[in-house]
Amino acid sequence: MRALVKTEAGPGLELREVAQPVIGINDVLVRVHKTGICGTDLHIASWDTWAAKTITPPLIVGHEFVGEIVAVGSNVADFHPGDLVSGEGHVVCGRCRHCLAGRRHLCANTIGLGVGRDGAFAEFVSIPMTNVWHHWPGVDEEVAAIFDPFGNAVHTALAFPVLGEDVLVSGAGPIGLMATAVVRHAGARFVVVSEPNAYRRDLALRMGATAVVDPLARDLRDVQSELRMVEGFDVALEMSGNAAALRSAIANMAHGGGIAILGIPTAEISLDVNEIVFKMLTLRGIYGREMYETWYKMTVMLQSGLDIRPAITHRFSFRDHDAAFAAARSGDSGKVIMSWVE
Ligand code: NAD
Ligand code: ZN
Repeated sequence: MRALVKTEAGPGLELREVAQPVIGINDVLVRVHKTGICGTDLHIASWDTWAAKTITPPLIVGHEFVGEIVAVGSNVADFHPGDLVSGEGHVVCGRCRHCLAGRRHLCANTIGLGVGRDGAFAEFVSIPMTNVWHHWPGVDEEVAAIFDPFGNAVHTALAFPVLGEDVLVSGAGPIGLMATAVVRHAGARFVVVSEPNAYRRDLALRMGATAVVDPLARDLRDVQSELRMVEGFDVALEMSGNAAALRSAIANMAHGGGIAILGIPTAEISLDVNEIVFKMLTLRGIYGREMYETWYKMTVMLQSGLDIRPAITHRFSFRDHDAAFAAARSGDSGKVIMSWVE
């Protein structure tokens, strides 16, 4: 089969002919239809410090996908060839305290698809049956391809109650964009999106933002007064990984507010803890998705009218992976999809 492989420790990815994965008794084999490019894939491709200390080549990259089951292991009873599925990208241990308690998203021994084991940028991928999400008939395959990052967005967006609340979204990358639509769907009053990139600010408006702001040009306080907000944001979703964005969120929160932090900073961030204490804020780290409560919520929200399709801006064949990665890296893009069927 053809696969996009990190062949050696250094920059670049190579489209290669490799052996089809062999499945174990608890696994399913999926013929990949479509995949989404994630920031993680960009880090691995460019071979930054994180990638150099995390990745052992050779490795097939990628973890956002949709495809059709073509074979199942002998222990697998619930899934069948022909099923349209996506995969949860975190393979958990199943044996730690949290896994045993059913809190698999808290597993401390998670292995990432396309990070710690061969991934989905390939014609076929093998995943454990415990990682399969079966889609309903008629699901949009492009949307199904990005259930993994959509799950990040939903898990973060619903970390605090948003019904009737004023929400700040910092960072309108693909995940911030989807989260904007989710908090809107979940009944937020104002959704203010802070993002330096103009292309992405426009997309945020299409996703349902009440107002967008360039944090390099304007203070969030001005936006608050324009909207006649009085006490600050009730909920903030930190989706940029940027230190200034986190500080600005803290500075603009209402007393008792909640900040869900998904963005991954590249260095330590110093914070004025006094603000957190005296505003009685709750800061909550978010990693991955809840297995499988988030997946359930994604599905039912799509079925009840949530539309995340405007966040998908670019489509390529896997053959044009260089152009696809360039589009994802440019910043002037939302989600970039690669198709693995011709
Ligand atoms: P992205 O890099 O495409 O988006 C981040 C956005 O933040 C960019 O559009 C950037 O212009 C914007 N930004 C930069 N400085 C800003 C500032 N001062 N204020 C507001 N916005 C600013 O990333 P993405 O794919 O949408 O992912 C969002 C974040 O979540 C990233 O940091 C990513 O690493 C992280 N992530 C975390 C998890 C997890 O499980 N915790 C999973 C996936 C991604
Ligand atoms: Zn575990």
